[in-house]
Amino acid sequence: MFELFFNKKHFYPNDYKKTVYDVDFQELWNNNIRIIMLDLDNTLIPYDESKPTSKIYKLFDTLKSIGFKVYIISNNQKDRVKSFAKKVKASYVYSARKPFRLGFKRALRYANNPEHESVCLIGDQFMTDVLGGRRMNFFVIVVDTIKRKGEKWFTKISKYFERRILRRLKRTDSEFYFKLKLNEKR
Ligand SMILES: [Mg+2]
Repeated sequence: MFELFFNKKHFYPNDYKKTVYDVDFQELWNNNIRIIMLDLDNTLIPYDESKPTSKIYKLFDTLKSIGFKVYIISNNQKDRVKSFAKKVKASYVYSARKPFRLGFKRALRYANNPEHESVCLIGDQFMTDVLGGRRMNFFVIVVDTIKRKGEKWFTKISKYFERRILRRLKRTDSEFYFKLKLNEKR
């Protein structure tokens, strides 16, 4: 199966939160994280919306006031990613092809090639965000998928693999699985 092509340790997120708003960004800063990379679809907004909410604007203000460099890193196309990123005044990478390294490398170049350990990636999908981010040695926080309805076919496949990954983690490393409360992952 597809997931066997990848190292098992890359399916271990560093943390799990229900939403991006549950992340303690000050704590990340205190732990020497300086760069936040955010997935767009179903992490910040659902597929069928395009505008940032007031909560999202507030989030980006908070991130910048703490001192983070913030990047939107999305597998989606230019128009959607660019228009969202412009609104929140963030840098962005579109067509990032997560879990492959190319898009992450582009973002790292924009950030003047920082230590990978100083990067936190937040996303909702195991097959793209967790796998991709852990392969890069980033600190990865996985969050719940905002909305399943109307998702694209490749997201459905990705979610199918995610269920398999979660089942395997539960079976092979239940201590880790329950410590992160991955049984609550949606
Ligand atoms: Mg996503």
